[in-house]
Amino acid sequence: MTNELEKYIDRVLYSEDDIKAMVQKVAARINEDYAGRKPLLVALLKGAVIFSADLMRALIIDCEIDFMKVSSYSGTQSTGVINIINDLGCDIAGRNVIIVEDIIDTGLTLYKLKELLESRHPASLKICTLLDKPSGRKADVYADYIGGTVGKEFIVGYGLDYDEKFRNLPYIGVMRNS
Ligand code: 5GP
Repeated sequence: MTNELEKYIDRVLYSEDDIKAMVQKVAARINEDYAGRKPLLVALLKGAVIFSADLMRALIIDCEIDFMKVSSYSGTQSTGVINIINDLGCDIAGRNVIIVEDIIDTGLTLYKLKELLESRHPASLKICTLLDKPSGRKADVYADYIGGTVGKEFIVGYGLDYDEKFRNLPYIGVMRNS
């Protein structure tokens, strides 16, 4: 580890090669499942930017991408509340939509987002996540495509941040003391 930022990383959880393999694995399944259907990837800002770019390059089927920025917080309702910070620029009615997320933890964000996007009548709606953290789950939401799983650690790199830092690391590492 040479980068100054890397003083804060305890260990590498997924190397660049591991990530490439995860992206290829997920892309191969999407290529097969969506052959002839032109899915719309809905990538969630900011964490999924790097994953969605690599995923799209690994798709050999016709596809499109759009971006959405949302935030969720647990209010009085057990499933939380979602705020749309940036909405999609296109109509998803009749489209085959795949939400692309960096990591699913509590699942509260995706639970509410799925509900919102379903109300816009897509032909189909699936979830693709680079990483899944099943131990954190509070909402009944599951991904259709998962690159890998993580434990309770707080991870950074490859788009994932801590206070806006570390997104540029090419690997996924565990933060010290997490
Ligand atoms: P949730 O599933 O809890 O609604 O929200 C998932 C979001 O929480 C992810 O998109 C990500 O922004 C953040 N998150 C959850 N776990 C981690 C983690 O281990 N590291 C980082 N950097 N972000 C996380």
